[in-house]
Amino acid sequence: MTDSLVIASIDWHSVATASYIVAALLFILSLAGLSRHESARQGVAFGIAGMAIALAATIGVATEHAEAVAVVLLVAAVAIGATIGLWRARVVEMTGMPELIALLHSFVGLAAVLVGWNGYFSVEDNAGQTEVLGSLLDIHHAEVFIGIFIGAVTFTGSIVAYLKLSARIRSAPLMLPGKNYINVGALGLFVVLTVIFVISPSLPLLIAVTVLALALGWHLVASIGGGDMPVVVSMLNSYSGWAAAASGFLLNNDLLIVTGALVGSSGAYLSYIMCQAMNRSFISVIAGGFGIEAPASADTDYGEHREIDAASAAELLTGASTVIITPGYGMAVAQAQYPVAELTRQLRDRGIEVRFGVHPVAGRLPGHMNVLLAEAKVPYDIVLEMDEINDDFGETDVVLVIGANDTVNPAATEDPTSPIAGMPVLKVWEASNVIVFKRSMASGYAGVQNPLFFRENTQMLFGDAKAKVDEIVGALAADRVTA
Ligand code: NDP
Repeated sequence: MTDSLVIASIDWHSVATASYIVAALLFILSLAGLSRHESARQGVAFGIAGMAIALAATIGVATEHAEAVAVVLLVAAVAIGATIGLWRARVVEMTGMPELIALLHSFVGLAAVLVGWNGYFSVEDNAGQTEVLGSLLDIHHAEVFIGIFIGAVTFTGSIVAYLKLSARIRSAPLMLPGKNYINVGALGLFVVLTVIFVISPSLPLLIAVTVLALALGWHLVASIGGGDMPVVVSMLNSYSGWAAAASGFLLNNDLLIVTGALVGSSGAYLSYIMCQAMNRSFISVIAGGFGIEAPASADTDYGEHREIDAASAAELLTGASTVIITPGYGMAVAQAQYPVAELTRQLRDRGIEVRFGVHPVAGRLPGHMNVLLAEAKVPYDIVLEMDEINDDFGETDVVLVIGANDTVNPAATEDPTSPIAGMPVLKVWEASNVIVFKRSMASGYAGVQNPLFFRENTQMLFGDAKAKVDEIVGALAADRVTA
């Protein structure tokens, strides 16, 4: 009887190990699929399959020797988590995706902290385990300490990112005096505490590192300005991966180590690519805005702005032969992509060349504008990336800036004291005429004033972007009828 139980348990573990290998391969295929538009759906399907297999195998291993009440608790926790996850994913607006992702990263961080604390108590309170670990005990202590540190930094960092992205706190960078020294000092202190903990583990040290890491995570992300938040989100994605990998070492779970390393390294690489695209120093951003100083006063007087109405905008468009549309976050908020697609059709029917210029961080998540335009069936071939179109604005008659602000701000190239200085932007101001669709003179996500609005060739079309584009479409249709 005992023998058969042992054999059954060995079999089950083999099944779990095999499942983990399959799941890990599916995650790699998922990442490969997600890297291209055409295979993204397939990538998601691979990811879901991998996660389902991983979850089933983990539950199987966990319940093998568990008491009935533990199994019930586990199943209940999975059911509650899955229900909340499904509900949130179904109701979330596309514009709310980054904040949801930031919140999910905070859960990974919190889980890593709890696993770390649990790892400490399960060994310290169990003399038998201490003996079993023997010389590996030091490694175990290092795993606990590092896992808690990465997890706690991820936890509070992600919460600050969530609060900034959802506009619950200001997106401007926190500029504490000596902020760089605070960050470097906290890292140095962590290294010292780790060495002490490995030599002589104690509860007060564990509490100290948890508090230190929670404060550091908060400060790191609070110090980064709104314009750099896309990089922060992918950086926290990377941190959450490393936190999961650290938990994998503690729980002796190979799949968690592999998956954590995949998320950690792909997130780090994405952060690096985004930094390059935005002309930001990777080290500066991951070190909490290291070297970025307080911006100069924002009280500059740019003069008066000019306004235009929809009918005059329609008239300007009918007289144009080349038009570029640069969409931004406001188009997503207004859901203006459908009338924008209709406007594009009408202008093209009149023989006017219409193209789109999409900035890599327009909107609130990478690829945001491309998805919206594809949804509204704007042909792919007229939707161009920033680098492909940026030299063409000088020969363009009319540019329609639809709910974009930071991504078309000339201060990024002209004002070295601007918080977004150095970030590549769409050079819309080089066109003969620029019409900016927005509701007010308010600043964009980075909280920076935009001198574009006061240029002589710029006219503001105030109101909800969808309503205003609809009005222009209406005016063009009426013009067709009377013509
Ligand atoms: P911005 O966020 O700079 O500006 C959007 C503009 O849209 C606002 O000025 C707002 O002005 C206007 N707007 C809002 N609602 C409406 C509406 N209903 N109708 C018309 N206009 C509207 O947008 P951009 O896309 O240019 O820049 C994106 C910013 O977000 C960058 O700073 C980027 O770094 C950051 N970011 C990007 C992420 C990404 O991955 N893409 C992730 C996180 C942050 P008003 O209120 O006056 O209407």
